[in-house]
Amino acid sequence: MARNYFIAGNWKMHKTRAEAASLSLELVAALKNGKHKYLVAPSFTSLETVFAVIKGSNIILGAQNCAAEEQGAHTGEVSVLQLKDVGVQTIILGHSERRHIYKEDDELINRKVRLALKHGFDVILCVGELLEEREAGKAEAVCKRQTVEGLKDVGAADISRITIAYEPVWAIGTGKTATPEDADAIHAYIRKVISELYGADAAGKIIIQYGGSVKPDNVAALMAKENIDGALVGGAALKAETFVPIAKF
Ligand code: PEP
Repeated sequence: MARNYFIAGNWKMHKTRAEAASLSLELVAALKNGKHKYLVAPSFTSLETVFAVIKGSNIILGAQNCAAEEQGAHTGEVSVLQLKDVGVQTIILGHSERRHIYKEDDELINRKVRLALKHGFDVILCVGELLEEREAGKAEAVCKRQTVEGLKDVGAADISRITIAYEPVWAIGTGKTATPEDADAIHAYIRKVISELYGADAAGKIIIQYGGSVKPDNVAALMAKENIDGALVGGAALKAETFVPIAKF
C-alpha cells in the first residue's frame, strides 16, 4: 500500500525566535518543491514566529508536547487551546525525553493523545525501548505496550490522525542508528499491533516514522525499507544543511 513519506524536525530546546525564523525561511525556500510531507516542531516560545514564516507553505507546524488538561491552574504547562491559537496542527507526544527525563507514563501520554485529538490536532506518538530493554529481548513488548496504552480509547475514526514514531532510546542523540533491518522489523511489528487494534486497512495506511540519529548519509537506506514511512529528526533538524538533504532524500 502506498504511503507518503513524512519527515519531521524536532528542534527540542534550541533556538531563539530570530534563529527559528531564519531556519524556517531557509526550509520554506528549500522544500517548496519537496515531494514528501514536512513538519517542524520548535519550542513553544517560537511557535508563533515560525508559523508566520511557514504559513501557506508545505511545512506543518508541530508542538513538542502539551498539557493533559484543557486549561486551569497548571503552572508551567501549555494547553491545546493555546497551541491551536498559534497555528499548531500536530503535537508530538510521548517523546523519550518526556518519558524518561520528565517521567511521563503511558496513562498520562494517553490522556494527552485523547485531548489533542478531541481538539482536532494530529498526533505523532513516540514509542521506543531503552538499551537494557533491547538487550533483554523486550523491544517488541515495550513498543507494543506504549502503542496500545498510548492509543487506549482512541476510536477507529481517529486513527488516521495518528503517526507513530519508533525511536529506540539508545539511538536518540547518540550517533548510533538502528540498522535499517532492525528498525524495519520493529516497524512491521508495530504495524501488526495496529492491525490487531484497528484492522488491516488502518495498519496499511498508518505512517510509522523512524527516529534516532537520522542523518543525510543514512536516511535513504532507512526509508528504503518496506515499513519505514518517514523520519523524526532531532540533531540534524537544527540546520538546513543537514535537514534539507534528509527531507529531500
Ligand atoms: C529525536 O529527538 O526525536 C531524535 C530522533 O533525535 P536525534 O535525531 O538527535 O537522535
